[in-house]
Amino acid sequence: MEQLNTLINIVYILSAVTFILGFKLMSNPISARRGNLISAVGMGAAIIVTLMDTHVERYEFILMGMVVGTLIGLLFAFRTPMTGMPQMVGLLNGFGGTASLLVAWAEFHAHPAGQGIFGGIVLWLTAIIGSVTFSGSLIAWAKLEEKFISGKPVMYTGQQFVTGAVLVGILGAGIMFALDTVAPEAYRYFALFSVLALILGVLLVIPIGGADMPVVICLLNSYSGMAACASGFIVQNNLLIVAGALVGASGIILTLIMCKAMNRSVANVFLGGFGAPVSGSGVDVVGELKEVKADDAYLMLEAANRVVIVPGYGMAVSQAQHAVRELTEALEKNGAEVSFAIHPVAGRMPGHMNVLLAEANISYDAMVEMDAINPTMETVDICMIIGANDVVNPAAQEDKTSPLWGMPIIEANRARTVIVMKRGKGKGFAGVENLLFYRNNCRMLYGDAKGSLQALIGEFKSAAGS
Ligand code: NDP
Repeated sequence: MEQLNTLINIVYILSAVTFILGFKLMSNPISARRGNLISAVGMGAAIIVTLMDTHVERYEFILMGMVVGTLIGLLFAFRTPMTGMPQMVGLLNGFGGTASLLVAWAEFHAHPAGQGIFGGIVLWLTAIIGSVTFSGSLIAWAKLEEKFISGKPVMYTGQQFVTGAVLVGILGAGIMFALDTVAPEAYRYFALFSVLALILGVLLVIPIGGADMPVVICLLNSYSGMAACASGFIVQNNLLIVAGALVGASGIILTLIMCKAMNRSVANVFLGGFGAPVSGSGVDVVGELKEVKADDAYLMLEAANRVVIVPGYGMAVSQAQHAVRELTEALEKNGAEVSFAIHPVAGRMPGHMNVLLAEANISYDAMVEMDAINPTMETVDICMIIGANDVVNPAAQEDKTSPLWGMPIIEANRARTVIVMKRGKGKGFAGVENLLFYRNNCRMLYGDAKGSLQALIGEFKSAAGS
């Protein structure tokens, strides 16, 4: 028994080390997969020794849960396209929150009396963070999927008062619960703050616009970690406390990084109603859209010495990353220097573009961050925008009334010539007109990004063959 406990604790410590090592390795795209694998091995070992714990009473329920959970997880993993990843992460956060809520409920049900004040507070914290994470994640999923609810912010008069009242209710029920953790009143308080916290999750996420949803998902991810950490105190599992704290902290750090990339404060994201219709005259769109066909775009590219490619969400939709690599090779063969300008919020999840380009074996050395590429933009012959929109919209710098105002952008407009690949006149995620597309130095190459790229590759090939 003693030896088993020692073994479990040793494995827990080693697992915690693999998690931290995993985080470190995941901070670099080259070592990220190894980091993920190392952490997964650590988690696998932790699960095995936890199952050996003598406190485990019924293996059949655990087995049932693992089988059902694995099947659902596999189904999601195979069915979710890369473009649906943020929604999927959102849902997974929600499941994490639900698990913590259920742990709190089960523990309270098993010991309805005698939790004490500390126990009562821990149960309360676990249940409310779990509930907020669950309902908030479902709303975030529905908004990103545009199912049941629009992606636009939902605002109404007295919103902050209603949210504040729900918060006060949760706090009040929590105090009563912690002071008097005895059935049957305690059951009522438990149910009351859990339901109020579910409502709070909805209230907190509905005013947030779709374009801010990635930040919300990062924060909910952090919440799910905090809920897991709190449930670690309930079931007295040290590794759950450590793992939950790591997820909680990393989620907060990612939230701050994303806010910085959008030049917004966390408070502004959660109170600002980003994406709601804005008042004011705005900057008038000047100029017209000038279309270019693939053969003319080829001639421009053929003459270019320095090409910068700005990938965006459309590249992911079109799955054009392999065609991007082929065109890059053709350009380089033609003597051009090609680099990739990656905006931190391009696509629909952090690192989305880096992952896709890496999948197509595009060298990390060619990927340049926004802050590094912008000062050199004037020396760029062709800036080729592949399915990006918001991240290159000068409205962020020129139109104070734009919802994008203040967001740092890749300053593609300063390149000598800009070629934009997109299917038509579709707007970006923030739903605003892009001033760049109307500039004199900008040409629109309409069509699915992959098709347009293949047409350009075809031009390079036929030029090489002739
Ligand atoms: P945007 O969503 O702003 O624009 C994408 C553009 O791609 C659209 O204008 C669309 O135009 C075009 N497009 C779509 N499909 C194709 C296709 N098959 N071929 C060619 N073009 C296509 O993308 P950005 O990457 O510029 O900006 C990301 C936005 O998403 C930001 O507002 C960011 O805040 C937000 N966001 C970011 C997340 C993240 O974590 N990175 C997560 C969630 C949101 P058309 O329809 O005319 O083809």
